[in-house]
Amino acid sequence: MDSNQIINEDKKYVASTYARFPVALKDGKGSRLYDYEGKEYIDCGSGIAVNIFGINDEEWKAAVTAQLGSVQHTSNLYYSKPQADLAKMLCERTGASKVFFGNSGAEANECAIKAARKYSDNKYNSSRKEIITIKNSFHGRTIATLSATGQDAFHKYYGPFVEGFKYADPTINGIKACLNADTCAIMVETIQGESGVNVLGADFLKQVENLCCEKDILLIVDEVQTGNGRTGYLYSYEAFGIHPDIVTTAKGLAGGLPLGACMLFGKCADVFGYGDHGSTFGGNPVACAGACNILSRITGDLLAEVQGKGAYFKANLERIKNVEEVTGMGLMIGIKTNKPASDIANKCLQKGLLVLTAHGKVRLLPALNIKKEEIDIALKILNEVIGE
Ligand SMILES: *Cc1c(COP(=O)(O)O)cnc(C)c1O
Repeated sequence: MDSNQIINEDKKYVASTYARFPVALKDGKGSRLYDYEGKEYIDCGSGIAVNIFGINDEEWKAAVTAQLGSVQHTSNLYYSKPQADLAKMLCERTGASKVFFGNSGAEANECAIKAARKYSDNKYNSSRKEIITIKNSFHGRTIATLSATGQDAFHKYYGPFVEGFKYADPTINGIKACLNADTCAIMVETIQGESGVNVLGADFLKQVENLCCEKDILLIVDEVQTGNGRTGYLYSYEAFGIHPDIVTTAKGLAGGLPLGACMLFGKCADVFGYGDHGSTFGGNPVACAGACNILSRITGDLLAEVQGKGAYFKANLERIKNVEEVTGMGLMIGIKTNKPASDIANKCLQKGLLVLTAHGKVRLLPALNIKKEEIDIALKILNEVIGE
């Protein structure tokens, strides 16, 4: 099989929802990937912030295959050690009280939406159900999470959408303009990844937190992309000094297997009772075993390393001609240039570098253990392509 055969087969049989790059990746190691012709690529996307320790990581693979060799799935009708262990680790590391597991970011956010509405239903009444989200946010592709997503481009074709979402400008006055007696939660990303790596300021987030406390409105932080060490913090809200009631995560959590988590803090701990929510695959033991390994390796040393690598990337990117702005935190990086981002991404691909784009910016989300020499190759190629 060569890449062209795979591409043709895909185009014929796979639903055409993805504008894919013309490359089929066969294997790799760490932050180096190879296509079917043996061409090498430096990976600055890590499967969209998923492969925290890169491709084919030995320790992670050992944890996953050990679990595969004992039991691959049991359903949530029975207790599962990897799932209980992972929930304990997440609670101990974050201060959360309880965790619900799904398989993706969208499912984690669905759970957060349900938890917020149930909390409000239990305590107030059945009409206090509105959730404020932020303009340009991204919360997923299910109908409810699309409804939560504050971008008109996502509100086409599939209506009627789920009611009860309001989209605020990312300012406290923007939030107040959407607030009313029916508001039950405010849902934010600390850094909006899909809409171009926009950092929402610490002041704004703190003001939102204060407002939430004052009115018993739940603060939901979507850490699907920013979580699991990506920003140089285990979860990025820590960097902003806020204390959410609900935190969702997925992408990097299991290091390359599908897993989502909705963490319930303090007053939300016991919002769900038997039968209130569920999932067949959610918290799958293989994915949870992978996640336990990942989480145990996101140490203070690793987080410091991520911050250092992020600063190194930023300093060197800012030196490249035609770069107008570098945004983000840690190894979640947005690059604004005066050229079309998709042209840059395609030229990088030809030169052996995988990068992502988001709302007109080039976006880098490399593995957290990307090596210094791999960062330097990436910077060299970016310099050639952007600086030309
Ligand atoms: C990717 C993403 C999602 C959706 O996650 P899926 O696993 O694709 O469902 C939700 N929120 C944010 C912030 C994301 O980056």
